[in-house]
Amino acid sequence: MDDDERDELLARIEGLATPDPERPTSIDPDVEHEVTVVDAITRTVPNPAASGEPMSDYNPPPTMTSTLTCQTCGSTEGWTLRGRWGSPAVISCPAGHVVESRDRRWLVGVMQRALVTAAR
Ligand SMILES: [Zn+2]
Repeated sequence: MDDDERDELLARIEGLATPDPERPTSIDPDVEHEVTVVDAITRTVPNPAASGEPMSDYNPPPTMTSTLTCQTCGSTEGWTLRGRWGSPAVISCPAGHVVESRDRRWLVGVMQRALVTAAR
């Protein structure tokens, strides 16, 4: 697989609700990694406007993109992710606040995507 194919695959993976990227051989699943993500982290969540009866012919998309924001200081970028391949990420903002999320599957996926990106 060359870089273009991998980028295309990653783009397709990003678009799926349950991303499980393939583990690059350079990433040891038994080692805890620390990855700094400079850009904002986005996630796809159910669109609350899409639930319930539509009020008009306009149907909102069933999902929406939400940007991860520190609930303590409001940071949206400069995240540090710590964790292993296949385990939930521990996400902290530049000020060191740990972001809580009960969505374990998303935390696993965001760690894998960060590791794949860092391994390039
Ligand atoms: Zn913070």
